[in-house]
Amino acid sequence: MSTFITNCRIVSAGLDIANGSLEIKNDIIENIFHNNITEIPTGSEIIDAQRNIVFPGFIDIHTHGAMGCDVTDGKVESIEKIAETKLREGVTTFCPTTLTLPFEDLKKACESVEEYKRNTTFAKVAGMHLEGPFISQKAIGAQNPKFIKKPDINFVRDLHNVSKVAIVSFAIEVEGASELIAELNKMGIVPSCAHSSAIYADFKKAKKYGLKNITHYCNQITPLHHREIGLVGAGLIDDDVKLELICDTIHVCPDMIQLTFKVRHADNIMLITDSMSASWLKDGNYKLGGLDVIVENCAARIAASGALAGSTLKYYQSLKNVYDITGIPLSEIIKVTSYNQASSLGLKDVGKIEKGYKADLLIVDSNFKPLKAFVNGKKFIL
Ligand code: FE
Repeated sequence: MSTFITNCRIVSAGLDIANGSLEIKNDIIENIFHNNITEIPTGSEIIDAQRNIVFPGFIDIHTHGAMGCDVTDGKVESIEKIAETKLREGVTTFCPTTLTLPFEDLKKACESVEEYKRNTTFAKVAGMHLEGPFISQKAIGAQNPKFIKKPDINFVRDLHNVSKVAIVSFAIEVEGASELIAELNKMGIVPSCAHSSAIYADFKKAKKYGLKNITHYCNQITPLHHREIGLVGAGLIDDDVKLELICDTIHVCPDMIQLTFKVRHADNIMLITDSMSASWLKDGNYKLGGLDVIVENCAARIAASGALAGSTLKYYQSLKNVYDITGIPLSEIIKVTSYNQASSLGLKDVGKIEKGYKADLLIVDSNFKPLKAFVNGKKFIL
């Protein structure tokens, strides 16, 4: 039996159909129609989208938690709650993201994610994102300095054996970082520069070894100076390094969002939430990696230092912010929510609306708030 979504605007990378229809068969996009079809085989399910927009499901490659749960809780219930909450934001695939913590805690996080993957009930997992522990003391942000380690590929390999690691975020200027980049590439893991005091020369060296991404671009990396362009300069000048960007307008101001998109367009930017456990909850006192966090006016900060401690951003809101700030057409800007992430992670069957792709879809209102989601063709009313 097929499901037809009718009466909808369909937007995907390079595609914008004003009033079309879609057919889903099992877990696959079976057909895309450039008109609002009315003759539908009997026995099919029909969903009238009432002129709302259909997007590919969002892919959040950097999220620590939501709704009171953290990826490093070490409990499958936490991963499930995060997957459920992220789906309400429109995220159909995510990378559970860890913090700078001892190996045993990270191993438990991997075990809980692996258990969730065996019975995926909400958003799908693309692989773990290890943020730390190979970071710089000089760009600590919301990470715990007690558990910083030197780059160690065996540390990653041991966790990868528990649950597939998709991304490792680390400082590229520390001893052993170049070797780590090379080894990660061999393992098919994306190396990403994070929490780093690297200069531009370090970046160029890391690129030669195979550096792919900059983690939460602009946050906890070296700023741009006119005699040393640092990592912020590197993100603007380099043609193919991919940039994670937290577009809550707190982590990066609207002018910087505009500048980044003006220089790099929508091609190599990936929106992330970097959400922490307080997302979807009220302002108040929380914990992150054992550190006290205060959330005030939706901004989460480490109590002791005032450093930003992840976000409370909902994924669809980040797209709305970027769309409003840049004015880039939807069929172009939508790439930063799914298509770019899928190509970065080497996911072949998700990230856009195309015949034969997985039916990971959203029906969203004019503010991009998801009303319905489909994960592998399974419908969720949000
Ligand atoms: Fe971080």
